[in-house]
Amino acid sequence: MKRLLKQAMGRRSFLKTAGISMAFAAASMEEEIAYATQNVNRNSSPSELKITDLRVAVVKDAPMRCPIIRIDTNQGISGLGEVRDGASKKYALMLKSRLLGENPCNVEKLFKTVKQFGHHGRQGGGVCAVEMALWDLAGKAYGVPVYQMLGGKYRDRIRLYCDTDMSNDPKVYAERMKKRLEAGFTFLKMDLGIGLLRDIPNTVTRPLGRSPRATFNTPHPFTAIEITPKGIELMAEYVAAVREVVGYEVPLAADHFGHIGVNSCIKLGKALEPYQMAWLEDMVPWQYTDLWKQITNSIDVPTLTGEDIYLKEEFNKLVDAKAVDIIHPDLATSGGILETKKIGDYAEEQGVPMAMHFAGTPVSCMANVHCAAATQGFLVLENHSVDVPWWDSMVTGIEKPIMERGYIRVPETPGLGVELNEEVIKEHLAEPGYFEATSEWDRRDSHDRLWS
Ligand SMILES: [Mg+2]
Repeated sequence: MKRLLKQAMGRRSFLKTAGISMAFAAASMEEEIAYATQNVNRNSSPSELKITDLRVAVVKDAPMRCPIIRIDTNQGISGLGEVRDGASKKYALMLKSRLLGENPCNVEKLFKTVKQFGHHGRQGGGVCAVEMALWDLAGKAYGVPVYQMLGGKYRDRIRLYCDTDMSNDPKVYAERMKKRLEAGFTFLKMDLGIGLLRDIPNTVTRPLGRSPRATFNTPHPFTAIEITPKGIELMAEYVAAVREVVGYEVPLAADHFGHIGVNSCIKLGKALEPYQMAWLEDMVPWQYTDLWKQITNSIDVPTLTGEDIYLKEEFNKLVDAKAVDIIHPDLATSGGILETKKIGDYAEEQGVPMAMHFAGTPVSCMANVHCAAATQGFLVLENHSVDVPWWDSMVTGIEKPIMERGYIRVPETPGLGVELNEEVIKEHLAEPGYFEATSEWDRRDSHDRLWS
């Protein structure tokens, strides 16, 4: 800035010595400054920025269903965000009336305005989508990448783990995992659930006549489903077969155990101890802090939960209770970019690392990448879309491939660092309409203060 002022003054002195009056020079001072700062990257005038619209386009088969939101402004710049996979776009749209006319650069203030409309699981999706889009706008307005606004970065590239479709045949699955290693992944996660035992007699105890489907919405302690010693043995053999192929040097996590009781969790955990698991995920719902503590204290394998938790308070409870070894927020449920950094920072102070759950398009992925870059205790970020060939092509403005040899480079461009490829998004719409008008959501129609 000093240099630019000097330039401006230099030109002013030139005008003076050329015999042009100071009155004239003062009158044209505005032009002078405009001349001197013409090469400054000024994408917008941040203090005058105002939100004018919030619109949605819903993508399918990514492989999930993902509502992408766009927040427009009075200065022609737009911010992108994404509602959690599988959640309703309405969670974001209902926030529109609370955002119109506001300056999107006041990210934390607006987050606090809308956070009362989020909740655990998919219900956090709207608040988080808006938060991502606000950071994207703030970054574009000030010309800086999001990670820089969070305090800078701890790493230039983000380590990934990916999901791999289940197979009942451990040899087939082990080959799939080997392919992940060959593709450069440095951290593996496998599916390992009682679904593997479905057709094998005497492996699972459950109330007779009740279908696996009937327990879909029943939390684990209430299903009376337990794995038999034979079932435990077969699941351990399954993991052994994978370890035999991928070796013991790469971290190997496991997820999707099914709605089994705590005793089965502990028995299975003990049986898996020889296979050096990186973590056992969501063995019971996250709400049961004491049950988690019981499992964690009973097995010598790291435990992990968190993908359905909204806001830092519930994470802090788990961390304070030493209930799990690793936390696992999904940024599109946990409260967005800044809240997830706060979650990771609190856990880090208590010696608990943060892995990140993620399933979505490159928009939400980049929100995760910036947060992971800026959070010291970050461990590894999930990606659910390694086998979706058009995943990269949904966005422009970033180096491709986005995922390379098991990592994503942290973008250095303003905001999240991606723009949408309209043509590709339109090819994969889950419902008609590409960012159509949403004026029916303009008007606020309730009084929503949480106190009186
Ligand atoms: Mg999971």
